[in-house]
Amino acid sequence: MRRKTRQISVGNVAIGGDAPIVVQSMTTTYTRDVESTVAQIHRLEDVGCELVRVAVPEMEDAVVLGEIKRRIHIPLVADIHYNPALALEAIRQGIDKVRINPGNLINGRKSLEQIVAAAKEHGTAMRIGVNSGSIDALDQRAQMQRIQVRLRDDGVLERTDPAEARRKEREHLSERMVARALEYISWCEAMDFHEIDVSLKSSSVLTAIAAYRLFSQRSDYPLHLGITEAGTLVSGSVKSAVGLGILLAEGIGDTIRVSLSAEPEEEIPVAYEILRSLELRNRGVTFVSCPSCGRVEIDVIQVANEVEKRLAKVQTPIHVAVMGCVVNGPGESREADVGLAGGKGKGVIFRKGQVIKTVPEDQFLDAVLKEVASLLPPAEAKMVYPEGGIQEVAGKHRTREEGMNLPILKR
Ligand code: SF4
Repeated sequence: MRRKTRQISVGNVAIGGDAPIVVQSMTTTYTRDVESTVAQIHRLEDVGCELVRVAVPEMEDAVVLGEIKRRIHIPLVADIHYNPALALEAIRQGIDKVRINPGNLINGRKSLEQIVAAAKEHGTAMRIGVNSGSIDALDQRAQMQRIQVRLRDDGVLERTDPAEARRKEREHLSERMVARALEYISWCEAMDFHEIDVSLKSSSVLTAIAAYRLFSQRSDYPLHLGITEAGTLVSGSVKSAVGLGILLAEGIGDTIRVSLSAEPEEEIPVAYEILRSLELRNRGVTFVSCPSCGRVEIDVIQVANEVEKRLAKVQTPIHVAVMGCVVNGPGESREADVGLAGGKGKGVIFRKGQVIKTVPEDQFLDAVLKEVASLLPPAEAKMVYPEGGIQEVAGKHRTREEGMNLPILKR
């Protein structure tokens, strides 16, 4: 069950309480390059990003935030380090939320108080972001635990179990991250400011999990989940799915970002896939495809990838299956809204559990997309299946024999 948090408003998006878990991302452009930044945010909006953060390292980046905000449709968050003047200008520009780590602000609490006063005046929310990297994590105590050796009575040197040492180190680090976050919150509360959410990020999945769990036992402020510096598309997606997935399954988390060393648009489908897998959001396509195997009789990999690509911008919840043969194909296809079950260069198309028709492989894409479009609202249907149908041919007629480079067997 989802943990009950207090709810805050970031522009017109609610975070926490019973609001849906919000999917967000961060731009990779130089924010002062307004055209590129706005174009990237529009691409993020297209794939379902609900909140966007931009880096504000210099005053040139802060002074254009108002213009960026006027040209986009989702709430804008300014990411500020060190210089409180940047946060004050960002708030003055009308951003919806400021993300700061009070621990690295010049003049610490005094600067935070100035920012809080401005945020209260303008109705701006705040994310308090504590990163494990910004805590002097490997302090002496943790290091000692890591390398500790003990001289036993029999004269043998006994080393601390490295796994146990790492566990203690993690525990210690997550304690310190949470203590910092609670301390910063208390500074805000002393000024009667509560429009706060909190992130406790770490590139270590286990440290992040420990910190978020601990925080959620001690406070009801909403949590922004993320594994920082998670990695490239594959490694980052896996780390985020594991870390965020475990927390979300425990009911922890009110907004998420999947951080990838990739175009930010690629983060959004991964985030929705995590949420769909846990039945926390049902936006867009629930896609089922088989991995293919030695029984496959169509080019399932190519067809599946092409169908998924064509449906990337669909927001209406819909379940689509692309399966390679008759073993599991009909079962999965029947359970989907639209399904394709392949077999010997042909495929059976299912719609809402009923067989619609059998089509040759060069019509798979056209047939699947046409059926999907028939279940979507008009604007999305047009995007998926334009007038005149789908021109490109999917599949290479890869029969089992051809796939194995064998002569076609006469049966
Ligand atoms: Fe293999 Fe058929 Fe299962 Fe696909 S559906 S993995 S081709 S057995």
